[in-house]
Amino acid sequence: MPQTQFDVVIAGGAAVGSAAAYFLTADPGFGGSVAVVEPDPTYQRCATALSAASIRHQFSTEENIRMSRFGTEFLRAFGDALAVDGVRPDPAFHEGGYLFLATPAGLPVLRDNHALQRREGADVALLDAAALRARFPWLRVDDLAGGTLGLSGEGWLDAYGMLQGLRRKAIAQGATYLPRRVTGIERAGARVTAVRLDDGQALACGALVNAAGVGAPALARLAGIELPVQARKRSVFYVQCPERLPGCPMVIDPSGAYFRPEGQGFIAGIAPPPDQDPECFDFDVQHALFEDVLWPLLARRVPAFEALRCVRSWAGHYDMNLVDQNVILGPHPDLDNLYFANGFSGHGMQQAPAVGRALAELIAHGGYRTLDLGRLGWRRILEGRPIVEKNVV
Ligand SMILES: Cc1cc2nc3c(=O)[nH]c(=O)nc-3n(C[C@H](O)[C@H](O)[C@H](O)COP(=O)(O)OP(=O)(O)OC[C@H]3O[C@@H](n4cnc5c(N)ncnc54)[C@H](O)[C@@H]3O)c2cc1C
Repeated sequence: MPQTQFDVVIAGGAAVGSAAAYFLTADPGFGGSVAVVEPDPTYQRCATALSAASIRHQFSTEENIRMSRFGTEFLRAFGDALAVDGVRPDPAFHEGGYLFLATPAGLPVLRDNHALQRREGADVALLDAAALRARFPWLRVDDLAGGTLGLSGEGWLDAYGMLQGLRRKAIAQGATYLPRRVTGIERAGARVTAVRLDDGQALACGALVNAAGVGAPALARLAGIELPVQARKRSVFYVQCPERLPGCPMVIDPSGAYFRPEGQGFIAGIAPPPDQDPECFDFDVQHALFEDVLWPLLARRVPAFEALRCVRSWAGHYDMNLVDQNVILGPHPDLDNLYFANGFSGHGMQQAPAVGRALAELIAHGGYRTLDLGRLGWRRILEGRPIVEKNVV
């Protein structure tokens, strides 16, 4: 007989759901049963697998810096901590750094962010235009006042590899993955008692985690909760360029365009203008955005990019928190045992380890034990006190 009762059911088994399953099953204070309900074991369409797979400490919110710093520690120790039967998973973490560039108008904000990042212990240097030119001779700096460069801890990885490593270890530690979708939630007063799956089966549960990415608002609605999160499409372009750019980090242009090395080329992207960025669930790549907006910006910043060639492209979706572009984490005041981890707004892959650990602490111990992420809970949303992240890429 298949098991129909679990202490914790996690809806969504990509980076965040699998990290929660890993940390719960690793916690000696927990000892309960965990089911991860994930309808797509190929992970083809989840944000985790389609992301730009990069991690930075350069945020404007303390909690985001702390979560990413933990993400770095976790990635550095990944192979040892997540080995299964002697096989060490390799998330291919490369500490290539982030470079945020600023015009004179943007310099005060860059400086403020840098001061906060330094206070938080991030290894980030503030460089003026001359220092940028000396360090990155391929970069056009004539309109820039400076930039902040991550010297260690920031970079990029194989996000799919991280997800698979978490999933395999969670399974080895006792988690059950079910290739199904949650289609119903049963409540008794202020508690979730069971979920219904798309094959009609019911799973009784002591707690439910919403880790459903852009599926999270629909899942929340099943419990009668409106989550202020929408799917926003983001395209990624893999380009090749005849010239090498020695020491190229992940570069964030003042326009919002980004690029970083990937294999023999680079990946690049930019958000569409706000008035052309509706809620959207299709996967059609925004080719006009590349031709009309992104390529000219890239070539303006790096003259060698005049000669680039777009080789491949794909689109995925941010689970955009419309209130303040930060994760909504923890239970809703109306439902004690429904835990949310949604609205990552483009920085959830790197936060998955910290958020997975945070969820495990909330569920197993009733409160945060390591990083205090209480400010990122529902209360700020319901009381209209946003914690706005200024560095959304
Ligand atoms: C183009 C792009 C670039 C990005 N770049 C970065 C980056 O560089 N760095 C970074 O940190 N973040 C980045 N992100 C954001 C990051 O990918 C996400 O924030 C993160 O992967 C979210 O993980 P998740 O597990 O919450 O969601 P997802 O990875 O989207 O997974 C959600 C899972 O839930 C499942 N699901 C949905 N509905 C249900 C249901 N009803 N029942 C059960 N399961 C369900 C889905 O099948 C899916 O597998 C990027 C995102 C995109 C789209």
